[in-house]
Amino acid sequence: MNPREMFLQQLEQAVPYLTVEPEFVEMLRYPREVLELSLPLKLDGGGIKVFSAWRSHHNNALGPYKGGVRYHVEVNRDEVVALSSWMTIKCSIADLPYGGGKGGISVDVRELSRNELENLSRLYAFGISRFVGTDYDIPAPDVYTNPQVMAWFLDTFEKVRGWSEPSAFTGKPIPLGGSLGRSDSTGKGGVIILREALRAMGCLGKDLTVGIQGFGNVGSRAHRFVEEDLGLKVVAVCDSAAGIYNPAGLKYADISAYKNDKRSLKGFPEGEEFFPDLLVEKDMDILVLAALGGAVDDKNAGGVKAKIVLELANGPITPEGEAILSDKGVAIIPDVLANAGGVIVSCFEWIQGRSGDSWSEDFVFSKLDERMTRSFKELWSIKEGKNISFRQAAYVKAVGRIVDAMRFRGIWP
Ligand code: NAD
Repeated sequence: MNPREMFLQQLEQAVPYLTVEPEFVEMLRYPREVLELSLPLKLDGGGIKVFSAWRSHHNNALGPYKGGVRYHVEVNRDEVVALSSWMTIKCSIADLPYGGGKGGISVDVRELSRNELENLSRLYAFGISRFVGTDYDIPAPDVYTNPQVMAWFLDTFEKVRGWSEPSAFTGKPIPLGGSLGRSDSTGKGGVIILREALRAMGCLGKDLTVGIQGFGNVGSRAHRFVEEDLGLKVVAVCDSAAGIYNPAGLKYADISAYKNDKRSLKGFPEGEEFFPDLLVEKDMDILVLAALGGAVDDKNAGGVKAKIVLELANGPITPEGEAILSDKGVAIIPDVLANAGGVIVSCFEWIQGRSGDSWSEDFVFSKLDERMTRSFKELWSIKEGKNISFRQAAYVKAVGRIVDAMRFRGIWP
């Protein structure tokens, strides 16, 4: 399903429970501005290849636009707009002083040399340099981008502008003003939300099994922290190449060492290997979705055996998939709450950059825990009070806060 359509449907499902003027909801259906770029990259072997890229500004009623940059062949304008819309909702839920933005390049990074990747990243940063800044729009990493890419972005941006502006990007390497804990933050935050959900459902401390789709930045950290912080057993994991199932448990240390060495989970010896798309239907109590959008839809939702689904990817369950899961009584913990740890610690990095301060990892994690626990409790009480889904509760809170700001601002010009 088109992710933009997904966002609009999710917003629509919250409308009956909103007490806000319809014209403000109408404004949230559209991005404020979208920059479209074509990036002519000089290839190492000679010649050029042109890549399409975008940066979307969805809404900035609460503060500067904020959101990651994705490198993936399937990136397109609608996906970037949808991801920026979800960022607006996510930042509002987490009470951050940000609106929603997102960017992306349609590219398969595996086809580029390191030199080409650097040059493409610099071309993108050059192209968006008039569209970003500390108080305007602050990009960060997303799928297939990382601290090194942020370093190239920052360096290019600062050279174009002619001054130092570290808080224009987050998710940077530590020597360039990155925050301790940023790389772990989305997975850590997701596990904090899972802990609170288990507590609210009376399941905290029970022997539950976990399956994780995606073993990148977010999925690998989720694996580590469900083991370390909650003592849960992970029985299934997958990346884009292969899945591994082992009812006796798959240790984070073993899986990550193998993945670091071989770059893929294919061939991991201690378990049954399967096609990655089948992960969502394996036997487990908790399914963690940490790869890409649309992973659970009307075709495979019927086969999901887990009783709890934690959305760490953005938009991993289509509305049709969600309807099927809800009918089966599966508890869905929505992306806009569950994966907010990354943008929350990005905000901490932004604050540290602006103040020249640097915080310890313990301090970062304790502030993250406090904020995510508060968001969870707030949404849980809206959900219980109105007898609506967790996602509807998330949109009720988010849209309410954004519209409060929009009302004060008025509609101008
Ligand atoms: P990443 O590039 O580090 O990892 C992506 C992982 O997904 C890889 O292991 C890849 O092999 C796997 N994957 C890709 N296609 C797959 C498929 N068809 N089946 C199974 N696995 C597949 O990306 P990431 O930063 O970990 O992001 C993962 C998700 O989390 C994305 O949806 C992203 O938008 C979301 N997210 C990321 C952050 C962050 O801070 N990085 C924050 C919030 C949300």
